[in-house]
Amino acid sequence: MTDYFVSDLHIDASQPGIARQFIEFLAGEARGAGALYVLGDLFEVWLGDDDSAPDKQAVIAALRRLTDSGTRCFVMHGNRDFLIGARFCAEAGCTLLADGSVAEVHRRRVLLMHGDSLCTDDLSYQRLRRTLRNPLMLAVLPRLPLATRQRLAARLRAGSREHTGSTAPEIMDVNQDAVLAAFAAFGVDTLIHGHTHRPAVHRLALPSGPARRIVLGDWYTQGSVLVANDGEFELRALPR
Ligand code: MN
Repeated sequence: MTDYFVSDLHIDASQPGIARQFIEFLAGEARGAGALYVLGDLFEVWLGDDDSAPDKQAVIAALRRLTDSGTRCFVMHGNRDFLIGARFCAEAGCTLLADGSVAEVHRRRVLLMHGDSLCTDDLSYQRLRRTLRNPLMLAVLPRLPLATRQRLAARLRAGSREHTGSTAPEIMDVNQDAVLAAFAAFGVDTLIHGHTHRPAVHRLALPSGPARRIVLGDWYTQGSVLVANDGEFELRALPR
């Protein structure tokens, strides 16, 4: 059985090519897979399960066709789509996976994260993350009118563009101590995450032995997928 990992598709109505390629991937290569893991930021923005734009509905329907055909699909919140909820999961046939979950992949314990929580050098981002993701906010946000959420999201995105434009790239990458702490806390030798848009396989020497951190790529100009086959992992770019 083959398993697939993707993240950071940032599907958005303004970039229809991304959704088109992902839907083709779901109906093509992913068909017959054991499992598909979506490790956050499937959507550029997801304001709640009542945000039923047609491009998003098409993605949900395509996920549903895959899960109906027998492939298990797991979805993790990213920083752009952390309001994905029970209704999305029911419609798409997906299971929500907590950020920082251990999955059994080909008899190997693998830690799965979105990746933003590892970017601890970016203090202002981590402050914003704590504010948006605290339980009170998560309870209130979905109850606000959709138009209010849309205005809030537009403000946050403008702030985020300004922040990424004025912050050094290394500040926005993962912090090595945070990575080592995650390996230690979960007792794994493989970590898969996205968020930084820097696809790579990093080899590490932990006190417990060799380990690897696999970073998934974004889908802005091409597809990016990690393929797990017979316990081997391969990062692949999918030309658009
Ligand atoms: Mn992200």
